[in-house]
Amino acid sequence: MKFVLVTGGVVSGLGKGVTASSVGVVLKACGLRVTSIKIDPYLNTDAGTMSPFEHGEVFVLDDGGEVDLDLGNYERFLDVTLTRDNNITTGKIYQSVLEKERRGNYLGKTVQVVPHITDAIKNWIESVAAIPVDGKEGPADVCVIELGGTVGDIESMPFIEALRQLSFSVGQDNFCLIHVSLIPVLGVVGEQKTKPTQHSVRELRALGLTPHLLACRSAQPLLANTKEKLSQFCHVPIANILNIHDVPNIWHIPLLLRSQNAHHSILQQLNLLSIAAPSDLQAWTKMAETYDNITNSVRIAMVGKYVGLTDSYLSVVKALLHACIACSLKPSIDWIAASDLEDDSANLTPEAHAAAWETLRNAECVLVPGGFGDRGVKGMILAAKYARENNVPYLGICLGMQISVLGLERANSSEFDTESPDNVVIFMPEGSRTHMGSTMRLGSRKTIFQTHDCLSSKLYCNPKYVDERHRHRYEVNPEVIGALEEAGLKFVGKDETGKRMEILELPGHPYYVGSQFHPEFKSRPGRPSPMFLGLILAATKQLEAYLNTHQNGS
Ligand code: GLN
Repeated sequence: MKFVLVTGGVVSGLGKGVTASSVGVVLKACGLRVTSIKIDPYLNTDAGTMSPFEHGEVFVLDDGGEVDLDLGNYERFLDVTLTRDNNITTGKIYQSVLEKERRGNYLGKTVQVVPHITDAIKNWIESVAAIPVDGKEGPADVCVIELGGTVGDIESMPFIEALRQLSFSVGQDNFCLIHVSLIPVLGVVGEQKTKPTQHSVRELRALGLTPHLLACRSAQPLLANTKEKLSQFCHVPIANILNIHDVPNIWHIPLLLRSQNAHHSILQQLNLLSIAAPSDLQAWTKMAETYDNITNSVRIAMVGKYVGLTDSYLSVVKALLHACIACSLKPSIDWIAASDLEDDSANLTPEAHAAAWETLRNAECVLVPGGFGDRGVKGMILAAKYARENNVPYLGICLGMQISVLGLERANSSEFDTESPDNVVIFMPEGSRTHMGSTMRLGSRKTIFQTHDCLSSKLYCNPKYVDERHRHRYEVNPEVIGALEEAGLKFVGKDETGKRMEILELPGHPYYVGSQFHPEFKSRPGRPSPMFLGLILAATKQLEAYLNTHQNGS
């Protein structure tokens, strides 16, 4: 196994995740099998308890792992299926060491950060790197490890030490370190400053790690003398100084890396030049260029609880992008804070209320994504009702499906009203043996189509069932299905027991679809999620024509 470690310096938010995924893409393009590990040095055992408002979305994996959103980037860029263990956190490492200590496995020894925590990190990395993630057998050729945070952070120290030891034990030819840094431009003269990078490389070297490549983020391309300076002071050959300057869309990044021969430098360091194929990035080139040349757009109203930080719904945004590109459109997403649509806001913040409704009315389709808690729920119900009554295409995901049912009649959800006797959405925890103590229904579950005579079945090309990812506690009350179906809704997808409602549709409406699962997590560039594709096709009045030509899965 060969390792590519990606660290970050100077500031956070440099796009280290996208850089690391793009390195993976470039290596995959040379015929290598690639897996990835994301290290998050925080103490939370996983991202499940972290607020999307602060930390961005919680990404959900097939195995039910609630992980950092960067794993979503890896799955989308490398087209792999990762496991919860591919996301390492300080919390997970300490938990495993402390459990071992309680079992008496350390045989009376003093348990310490070095060597016990560092050993646990090394063992974890080596065993997870060997898990195949691309559907083929046997371990991948290369594992890209991204170390979250910035070099020098106190909490990442045990990881740096463990990675230093790993680099030593796997040997020169099996370890390549890429340090992502920032080259700011200061003052009127606009000089590109190398000092912050020099400092962060010095910090890394003081900890025993020497970067083989630098990936420098900058607004404009790096000048020749900036590269020379970096090379001289950071001990990195000029050919290994990569520059990731601002590009029109992120699919350009693998192309940018290849144009600077990043693959050659990495393969050389890993002694893989002899087995690597010439790099083939045709599909990426096409995707990046197609997107740049699209001129038309479609207006999508996203009605959610968190609208301040778009990373809170990152996978939904990506899934919309994939679906739009398939229709040769650019997504134009209008974010609406659900609470602004509510009647109370008409009195309290009349301008925001008017603007929110104006935006909703101008949209070609409406999407209500998943969420927790009762903030903005009334506004989401109003948005779904508006879409239903005005024949505007609507996609409700998880909470967005639940509220679309709530708006149908004087119904309530026990998540928001524990007193109400006629709850249509009820607490339906899953007695899962693998997720002890947790009440959430998490990860990949089957949805069986009850009929093929519905939009979602046709969009999925009429399979018997689909596997999609879940993350919820509440569901449509199975006792009220009859009444809801009499009112016009159809539950066209259910779980294997027939008790859990997975997909709802409203026949006669151009596209009123809700899913209890989160289709966004499995959407891929070039392979958009059918639920999102349906929304965009309906928004642009192409759905019928599309279904006529793609009826039989062709
Ligand atoms: N809060 C709802 C539930 O727990 C919806 C969850 C979600 O949208 N992910 O069922």
